[in-house]
Amino acid sequence: MRWRKSRQEEAIRKAADLLLASERAVALTGAGISTPSGIPDFRTPGKGLWEFVDPAEVASIWGYKTQPERFYAWIRPLLEKMEKAQPNAAHHALAELEALGILKWIITQNIDSLHQAAGSRRVLEIHGHTRTATCLSCGYQAGTEDFWEEVKEGRVPRCPRCGGLMKPDVVLFGELLPPKALIRAQEASLAADVMLVVGSSLEVMPAADLPRLTRRSGGKLIIVNLGPTSADHLADVLIRGDVVDILPRLVQRVREGIEDGRLARSVRGGDGEGSDGPSGRD
Ligand SMILES: [Zn+2]
Repeated sequence: MRWRKSRQEEAIRKAADLLLASERAVALTGAGISTPSGIPDFRTPGKGLWEFVDPAEVASIWGYKTQPERFYAWIRPLLEKMEKAQPNAAHHALAELEALGILKWIITQNIDSLHQAAGSRRVLEIHGHTRTATCLSCGYQAGTEDFWEEVKEGRVPRCPRCGGLMKPDVVLFGELLPPKALIRAQEASLAADVMLVVGSSLEVMPAADLPRLTRRSGGKLIIVNLGPTSADHLADVLIRGDVVDILPRLVQRVREGIEDGRLARSVRGGDGEGSDGPSGRD
């Protein structure tokens, strides 16, 4: 046990060194960073929201169009959990890495907005989010809070302009990913000299492909996850553990490194506003 602990400590130190030496680090996060905040991993078979329904049917764009009430009955418990959820220590750790000028982007598969709640500003949500909804008929977009009461009461929200179906701006099965977020995520992954994967098993495309883009262009890969991932064999540092335990320890090591003056030169001088530094593209 002690041996495992010290090996984990060594891996955390190595990951911190990679981040300190980096100039264009990005993070990629999945469901595993939000499960400690009480949000179920709704893609895990036999668990949580996938238990009684076929997601490819209920949470697909064609399922939505034909039986929107089934979709809302399925997603309502998730929305209720998301409404109550608070960011955890791992979300806060990533927000701090951004504030320190180290993380340039967080690419997330999550739709829960918890990175923003923790203070992260440069977040690419490749599966969309639930903050807004769009009419499938006329394209009218509105904040979801306008529809929340209706959804809670079991009704399907309708467009105030044309009466069409309002769909939350999350990506359903059979839908294209938001092209802008995806293209920026791919660009950031290609440009990254370090990618920190947190809480994703890297089984869902196209997220699974992003670490490979980073590796292909010569970047380093750090993976922090409770279970195995599809890219473990590519990782320069592989840390198996609980993200809410590991991430704060990793940031502590990074902070110590900064105090020791070991930050990459181009990043040094960041004063906490690092997110709008020279690599900013928007
Ligand atoms: Zn409409």
